Amino acid sequence: MLELKTVLKRQKVLLGVMLLNVITTLEHSAYALCYGDRNGVQIDLARCSGHLKFSLEEQMLNLAHELVHAKQFITGQLSPIKQNWKKKDYSTTPYSRQPWEREAYAKEEKLYKIFWE
Ligand SMILES: [Zn+2]
Repeated sequence: MLELKTVLKRQKVLLGVMLLNVITTLEHSAYALCYGDRNGVQIDLARCSGHLKFSLEEQMLNLAHELVHAKQFITGQLSPIKQNWKKKDYSTTPYSRQPWEREAYAKEEKLYKIFWE
């Protein structure tokens, strides 16, 4: 069993700095965005996209998706340039086949259920 001090130390290393901005709308009608690197991340979460107003549950699902990207940046799986995944170039890979998006879509629902339902 881990001591609390050890757990907190590990979390600090894993989380770095995480900043969440909740914004009315984002450029290009994005639902949410995540920027970052190994030292920290910023998540911008939209309340609306075009004429679509997200429910709180939808916003939390979008947040869960971006939290997966946050993990990818902080662990170094995803480069800040966002076209390199585990040191391989995916700049010509379509959005739906990008490995970081596949992981985020695969895990968002599970994360949402754990933390919101
Ligand atoms: Zn994504």
